[in-house]
Amino acid sequence: MEKAADIVIIGGGIIGLSIVYHLSLKKAGRIILFEKGQLGEGSTGRCVGGIRTQFSTEINIRFSLESLKTFERFKEEFGVDPEFKRIGYLFLATTELDMEVFNENIKLQRKFGIPVEKLSPDEIKARWPYLRMEGIVGGTFCPWDGVMGPSEVLSGFASGAKRKGVKIYEGVEVTGISIKKNGVVGVKTKTEEIIAPIIVNAGGPFASLIGEMAGITIPVKPLRRQVFVTAPFRLSDQSIPLTIDFHRGWYFRREGDGLLLSGRIDREPSFNLNIDYEAMAEASENAIFRIPVLEKAAIARGWAGLYEITPDNHAILGPVPEVEGFILANGFSGHGFQHSPAVGKVIAELIVDGKASTIDISSLSIERFKKGQLIIEPMTAFKE
Ligand SMILES: Cc1cc2nc3c(=O)[nH]c(=O)nc-3n(C[C@H](O)[C@H](O)[C@H](O)COP(=O)(O)OP(=O)(O)OC[C@H]3O[C@@H](n4cnc5c(N)ncnc54)[C@H](O)[C@@H]3O)c2cc1C
Repeated sequence: MEKAADIVIIGGGIIGLSIVYHLSLKKAGRIILFEKGQLGEGSTGRCVGGIRTQFSTEINIRFSLESLKTFERFKEEFGVDPEFKRIGYLFLATTELDMEVFNENIKLQRKFGIPVEKLSPDEIKARWPYLRMEGIVGGTFCPWDGVMGPSEVLSGFASGAKRKGVKIYEGVEVTGISIKKNGVVGVKTKTEEIIAPIIVNAGGPFASLIGEMAGITIPVKPLRRQVFVTAPFRLSDQSIPLTIDFHRGWYFRREGDGLLLSGRIDREPSFNLNIDYEAMAEASENAIFRIPVLEKAAIARGWAGLYEITPDNHAILGPVPEVEGFILANGFSGHGFQHSPAVGKVIAELIVDGKASTIDISSLSIERFKKGQLIIEPMTAFKE
């Protein structure tokens, strides 16, 4: 293994791989990525692949629109079909307050040219007759939104980076970060020390543990989210959007011949990846409430993954003032897959050009927590 590099990335999920790919496009020098297990085995491998433009803050919308450009030409650029299915996202409001928030979101999204539709209960009933309308006061739908294959996108970034000479090591855990005079000088693995002036934390739900190696507190909590998939079930001949019962924090979409149902999100941080009966029962209850015919469906399987949640549900991007050369790309709060192309691009710009020019990422700095400048969302952010 190399003893020195210009840039070391810790973490081989969608974020680490997008960063190394974009660094390699900019000919950033000798780049090494370390993944403690296998590429994509963290949150990325457990993600449900949702892509949306319907966000409620400008910064998240900018990341979605920029990422969409890459997703739309993914096959041509990477030679891998990402299986982008533009099924749309349907948000359902069940309180007047939800609807007020949706109205504000629509205004913001349309400012960016996003063709979001505002729907009345009658319009919703006419388009998706399988939904029980109880409590629904309105909704929004955007046809630009959809789903895509996380492992396809991951393999596109990984093979693109490897072709351009990035060294990717799987099964190598970074166990320490060496620091001198308030700046990084390298990383330690169990067997080696690699000298590097720039180290990127792309550790997903493990971000805060990597931060501790550099003496930094990164406010990212790993929170388990469970999801379940039914046995083959025929619901409608029409395309089924990714449908979100906003107030319940519950969503569903088609998955193969069955349906994918979201389960609960834990409140307490942990690295637990088990699924449990209570969560499955709750997911089924939510499903039957909104789509009564699902009473006849059987749950076939499920899995759990870890969200990487920050106090304001927005990512932490950029340098750490106290430790020169330590760059953060963490805390995507359930949106890391869909924002990965733009994140890779801006982090590569930051490292190579000294400034992220595609999107101004200053509001996502870790310093916002110390300064009390958290990003305010109109309502608790929805998480895929
Ligand atoms: C159930 C679920 C559904 C989701 N659905 C969506 C969705 O629909 N749309 C969306 O955009 N996002 C979704 N997400 C969120 C998305 O999966 C994450 O935001 C994204 O995968 C984060 O990518 P990452 O590369 O930062 O983290 P990860 O994929 O977790 O990668 C981090 C990697 O770092 C490695 N690592 C950690 N510590 C070390 C170390 N010391 N040394 C070496 N390697 C290390 C880990 O092994 C891991 O592979 C979902 C998440 C979950 C759990």
